[in-house]
This record gives sequence, C-alpha cells and structure tokens, in this order.
Amino acid sequence: MNTIQTFNFQGLKALVRVDFNVPLDENFQITDDTRIVSSLPTITKILNDGGSVILMTHFGRPKSMNHSVALGSEEKYSTIHLLPRLKVLFPGIEILFAEDCGSEEAYKMAKNLKPKEILLLENTRFYAEETSGDVEFAQLLATLGDVYVNDAFGSAHRAHASTAIIADFFSSEQKMFGFLMQKEVDNADKVLKSNDKPMLAILGGAKISDKILILQNLLDTATHIIIGGGMAYTFIKAKGGQIGNSLFEEDRIETCREILKTAEEKGVKIILPLDSTIADKFANEATLKVCASSEIPEGWMGLDIGPKAVEAFTDIILRSKTILWNGPMGVFEMENFSKGTEEIAKLVAKSTSLGCFSLVGGGDSVAAVTKFELQDQVSFISTGGGALLEYFEGKTLPGIKAIRNV
Ligand code: AMP
Repeated sequence: MNTIQTFNFQGLKALVRVDFNVPLDENFQITDDTRIVSSLPTITKILNDGGSVILMTHFGRPKSMNHSVALGSEEKYSTIHLLPRLKVLFPGIEILFAEDCGSEEAYKMAKNLKPKEILLLENTRFYAEETSGDVEFAQLLATLGDVYVNDAFGSAHRAHASTAIIADFFSSEQKMFGFLMQKEVDNADKVLKSNDKPMLAILGGAKISDKILILQNLLDTATHIIIGGGMAYTFIKAKGGQIGNSLFEEDRIETCREILKTAEEKGVKIILPLDSTIADKFANEATLKVCASSEIPEGWMGLDIGPKAVEAFTDIILRSKTILWNGPMGVFEMENFSKGTEEIAKLVAKSTSLGCFSLVGGGDSVAAVTKFELQDQVSFISTGGGALLEYFEGKTLPGIKAIRNV
C-alpha cells in the first residue's frame, strides 16, 4: 500500500474522494467549512507535487438518488455551491466544474486537466448508482483519474461506488488514503490497539441501542468503562436501582446484565454515576435536585451526572493513559444539565496534559468539547461520526478495506 506522504503525484491526475458535505444557509452560503478545510493538506500536497486534482464528493441526500439517471436538478444539492469557497482557499489555482460526474463531458474535462489544476465534479449522489455501489458506475468514475485517493473517513462505512467499489479499478500502487483519512485511522487504531493502560472508554448519550456494539467490542480493549448520560439508567435499573422517569430501554435490560457479567469475567471495571441531577420535567427551567442515581423518585428524571459521580470518575480519568470519549454525560445543550459533561471534558483535557492520549469522537461529544472550548486540549477530535462508531464496533469499514485490503 502506498502512502500519500511518500507518493509523488507529478504529472498524475489524482481522483480524490473527499467528504465536502458541508452545511449551507438558505442563500447557499457555507456556514461551516471544517470538512473542506480538513482535506486541504491532501489537495495541497498533490498540487505542490505537480499533479492535478479531481474532487469527488456526495452532498446532502438528493431525491434523485432514487433514479437511475443523472438529474443534477436539485439545486441545493449541487456541489457548485462549493466553488466560491474553493476559489478562496486556493487563490491563483484554476478550478473547473463538471456538471455531471458520469458524463462524456466530465471525462473530457478530466482528460484535458493540466498539472496544478482542480476539477470539481457534481454530486456523486445525483446517481442512484453511487449509493447502490454499482460496479459499472464505479468503473466509469475510475476512468477519470490515474490514481485514487480516499480522504473521506466520514463515508468510510459506506460501500458506495466512489468510496469503496472504485478502488478495485486501481492497483495497490495506485490507491492510498489522504492525510485526513490516514490520521483518523491511525488515531482510532491507537485507541483500539493500545497497550497504554489504563485504557478508559467514556460512553454517554441518549440511547444504549446505539452503543451496545461498541460497548461489547470495548470489553476486549478497555480496562475501565464509564457510562453516563441517558444510557446509564437502563444499566442502573438492570442492577436493581429505581430510576423514576429517566430514559429507559426495557428491551435492552437483558443485554445490560450480560455486559455487566462479561465485564466482570474479563476484569473490565464498568463505572456508573453514583448520583444524578434530576428534574421534574425535561426543561431547563424544571425544578432540580441531586440524588443517588439508584433512588430517583417517580415523576423525576436524571438529566445529568451529579457531583459525587464526577468525584468518583476523577481518579480513573486522571490515571488513564488512553481515553476514548463518545457521548455527553447529560443533556448538555441545556445550561442546568451541562455541568457533568463540562467537568468530564475538563478532566479529559487535564489527563491529556498529563500525557494521556485522548480521542473524542462521534457527534455530540465533539459538540460538547467545542462548546466548552477544550477542543485544543484533547489529543484528537474525530470528524468521523458514524464511521468512527462502526470502527469502534470492530467492523471492517468498506472504505478502509478497499485501500488496505484488511
Ligand atoms: P447520542 O446521539 O446517543 O450520543 O445522544 C446525545 C444526546 O443525548 C444529547 O442530545 C443529550 O441531550 C442526550 N442526553 C444525554 N444524557 C441524557 C439524559 N440523561 N436524558 C436524556 N437525554 C440525554
């Protein structure tokens, strides 16, 4: 397998699958360009080597993905809205736009592309063949470039034409990860294959059902698992506690018992919040109390971990050498229930300053760390979302397998 660090793109056309699925406002202006900026190192390296870049991305979920023809008619999903920002980010670089990624015209534009130029393709999802992973469509896209670079970690869990299937049409010498993808995979592996113990997983968020597979997989890696957020209450009930009206998934109670039992057998310490901030309704203005998490009265619900829980979590967070954090400890979007998540974020930052490797990933925990302005004080923030979660579930991601064959 080649690496982007050492590969020389001079004179080559690199077909780069990025994840430029950025949010737009009603005037089609980009409101957050993080995803574009994250792939700049990859694009810049190729241009600096004297290669040209053909950018492929999906953009939103156009309805036309249900049709078997390129429509390109749903204006808000057109990648043309990305052009102005790309022009700002690459001053002086010629950036062309191909209105239909699967057309003869796109092929001609790619063929005529000169070194140090960029060609942006229209939304790959304007073809239903993209999401169905159609082999012929993948082959058609593959004809556009000499080498294939996958920098779209956020889409690595999809076996789509441009994220995975396409790689079959390039030899192992002609395909590689981009810098972003490489960094994501390396950092996730650093956690999953870590020998730096204690290895702590902090899992939170609303639903256990979303996190069961991760929990089960981490029983083979982690030495300690802190469970907070809404998902903690099904565990507390499984242990015989009273949780009032807190979040509860009855159909998961048996699984919780099994996880607790397996953890004990494997010597993994699962730590639940001793106390909770409880409320009489799901609202910031609710009446609040703090009580033991296993003694929540009827009519009340646990919406954050309490001060004793934070105190009990402190020692292990500060002693850990590797930390994975996914999911907030409470309803952190509401001021009155954000304290627990904030305290945990500060502790993870402190542990990082003491030499721990910390990875924060998967949706809301990233939002939380950013909210408390601690994003520069953890080792790595993953942009992966669903892909990261599936990687931690122990699944083989099609986008990764397509490049490195494992
Ligand atoms: P997830 O997407 O599963 O990581 O869940 C994130 C969401 O869980 C956030 O919107 C939080 O507000 C919510 N959440 C965290 N703790 C609780 C709780 N104790 N009760 C209800 N919702 C919660």
